[in-house]
Amino acid sequence: MKTSIKAARRLTDPYRVTNGRSFRLKDIDPDDVQNITKVRAQEALERGVELLSEEQEKLYAQDRHAVLLIFQAMDAAGKDGTIKHVMSGINPQGCQVYAFKQPSSQELDHDYLWRTALCLPERGRIGIFNRSYYEEVLVVRVHPEYLEAQRLPPVKGDIWKRRFEEINNFERYLTNNGTLVLKFFLYVSKKEQRERFLARMDDPEKNWKFSVKDAKERQWWNEYHEAYEDMIRHTATKHAPWYVVPANNKWFTRIVVAAAIATALDDLKLTFPTLSPAQREELRRARQALA
Ligand code: ATP
Ligand code: MG
Repeated sequence: MKTSIKAARRLTDPYRVTNGRSFRLKDIDPDDVQNITKVRAQEALERGVELLSEEQEKLYAQDRHAVLLIFQAMDAAGKDGTIKHVMSGINPQGCQVYAFKQPSSQELDHDYLWRTALCLPERGRIGIFNRSYYEEVLVVRVHPEYLEAQRLPPVKGDIWKRRFEEINNFERYLTNNGTLVLKFFLYVSKKEQRERFLARMDDPEKNWKFSVKDAKERQWWNEYHEAYEDMIRHTATKHAPWYVVPANNKWFTRIVVAAAIATALDDLKLTFPTLSPAQREELRRARQALA
C-alpha cells in the first residue's frame, strides 16, 4: 500500500499545480504518458480503484471530511468516462455526481455559486462536479453576453479577477470546514478533439454524443485556452490544487486522476473510528445478549 501511494504521488506530481503564478499550459503535453504502457496502466488503474475504495470506506466511517472533485474540460476530453472508470469501485451510497449545464431561469435568479452550493457533498461523502462554478470564468468569459442574463449590479474593475477571488475565498471556506477540494482539467489537444468528434459522427452507437454546437465551439479554442490558463494561474492553491491531466490517451488520464485522488485521501490520514472503553463495554453486553 505504501509503495502504491509513493508511485501514485510520483505519477501525479508533474501535473499538480498548487501555485499558479508561473503556470503555462504549454508546459504540459496532452500526449504525455510518462513511458507507461496501456497494459501497465490497466493494472495501475485496478490498484488505484482498490486504494480509493479502501479510503472511501474510512472517509464514510470517520464522517469528518467531505471530498469535492471538480472536472473541467473541453468537449470530448473524457470527463464522463474518467468519472465512470475512476469511481467504479466506490460504494454508490458514499458518492454523489452532479452535472452543471447552462443555468436555468431559477438558477439565474441567484448568485452564481448558489446552484453548486446546494450540491456540495455531505461529511463522509465524495461529491463530483461534472463542470462547476468554474464555467463562470470559462464559457462566460469566452461569451461575455451570458453575463447579461445574470443581471448583476454594475461591476467596477475586472469581473474575472473578482470572480477568481470569490472562488478562492469559497474554496478556502470549504477547506477550513472539512471539505477537501481537488480540481481536474482534462487537457486534450485540438487535433485529438477533432478525431473524437469524427469518431462520434462515424459510429452509430456514438452519434448521440455528437453535437453540432460542440463543433462550432472549436472556433473559440484559443480563447478557451487563454481562459483555462488564466483560471489555473489564479485559482491553483495549496489547499485546492488543480491537476492539469494529459487527456489525449484516455487510459492515461484515468490512472492520473485515480492516483491523485488516492494520494490526497492518504494525506488526510483517515482511520476507522475506535471505540471508547464505555462503547466497548456496551459491545460486550450486546454480545452477551446475543448469546
Ligand atoms: P456531454 O456533452 O458529455 O453530455 P457536457 O458537460 O458537455 O456533457 P452539455 O449539455 O453538452 O454537457 O453542455 C453543457 C453546456 O453548458 C456546456 O457548453 C457548458 O459550457 C455550459 N454551461 C455550464 N455552466 C454554464 C454557465 N454557468 N453559464 C453558461 N453556460 C454554462
Ligand atoms: Mg457537451
